[in-house]
Amino acid sequence: MAKKTLEDCPPETLADEVVVVRVDYNLPLDKDGEVVDDTRLVRTLPTIQYLVEAGAKAVLLSHLGRPGGRPDPTLSLRPVAGKLEEFLGSPVGFCSVTTGPLAREAVQRMKSGEVLLLENTRFYPEDTRNDPEWAEEIRFGAKLFVNDAFGTAHRAHASTQGIADAVRRSGGDAVAGFLLEQELRFLSDALADPEHPFVAVIGGAKISSKIDVIEALLPAVDRLLIGGAMANTFFKAQGWAVGDSLVEENRIDTARSLMDLAGDKLLLPVDVRTASCITSDAVTRVSACDEVRENEHIGDIGPHTAKHFADVVGGARTLIWSGPMGVFELAPFQSGTFEVARAAASAADRGATVIVGGGDSAAAAVAAGVVDRITHVSTGGSASLALLSGKEMPGVTALSDR
Ligand code: ADP
Ligand code: MG
Repeated sequence: MAKKTLEDCPPETLADEVVVVRVDYNLPLDKDGEVVDDTRLVRTLPTIQYLVEAGAKAVLLSHLGRPGGRPDPTLSLRPVAGKLEEFLGSPVGFCSVTTGPLAREAVQRMKSGEVLLLENTRFYPEDTRNDPEWAEEIRFGAKLFVNDAFGTAHRAHASTQGIADAVRRSGGDAVAGFLLEQELRFLSDALADPEHPFVAVIGGAKISSKIDVIEALLPAVDRLLIGGAMANTFFKAQGWAVGDSLVEENRIDTARSLMDLAGDKLLLPVDVRTASCITSDAVTRVSACDEVRENEHIGDIGPHTAKHFADVVGGARTLIWSGPMGVFELAPFQSGTFEVARAAASAADRGATVIVGGGDSAAAAVAAGVVDRITHVSTGGSASLALLSGKEMPGVTALSDR
């Protein structure tokens, strides 16, 4: 990688040093505020353990949710500190503010090998505003900043870009943590020189959210498979009725031009699974794509399509999968997604590089019971789309060059 990583920081240089680490503990919470998925936290453990074992003083920064620049007790990181403590097996301090005298004192009191989590950076408007003075405050005099927050690396915020600039200005280094390094290795390096066949499976709810990725991947891939509600807009573009299915009317032209551009590379569903409503007890019907009835909803790809997609996916040497093939959250509509997920895992078993980007696709891989077999599951939904689209990642650009 062109940027410095934590591997460039030998443990002996870290002892007793304050090291500020930006993590992405924007964990999904349920309505009672309980953490429902701690994957993002678990994936930062190698970075934190490395710092703890080196005897550094690790000061952790993260955002959680969208508090809009003011304190919101329902979005406090305090419960996350407790979670981290369980996983690390050693105490994790928590400070109820991010900046100011209380935070400075908490950092000053730290001993070698300790971990301190500061409160939600987005309780302060300065974070998203990328305020340089505030970025200097959250540096706490550190000469080393570690960015391990892939999920926010596509944002130019004080806790991502601003602090990296501040540390480098002070003569120190801003480096990628082990998780960020891994994300970049798979989502940019691996795809820059992929083994063929290189297959992309794109699905999910909307074309509009993934159009940039599709356009960026198209020249590189051998096959582009489209499923999910996104396929409906392609059906509409061919003049077929889609009943009451989700369609982006204003993207029909986009779909049409993508079909022209992609030619033979593009594989669209040939059959779909429909129902009169998308519910957990829906009675479904398999339909040819051009025979969807009025009042029907398309909820999944059909069995012929699933079989064909699974064959193509299973034969890939490089696979990027972003977006489920149907409403996999509901049992009647899960089989298309699960079949693709199992084929992706089999490809990985045979040595293919299989990359899953997107929060819902990752959840689908978990639900299908194959997540442990996938080569790389990205922790950043929008960030992975931004990176795959070739967009600049300010949180990465701001790191020290090798
Ligand atoms: P990811 O998070 O993996 O990038 P998206 O957020 O783009 O995926 O899309 C995921 C959502 O798309 C899921 O909640 C799924 O239920 C929905 N979806 C997929 N297919 C359909 C469909 N045919 N109709 C309605 N929703 C769909
Ligand atoms: Mg999603």
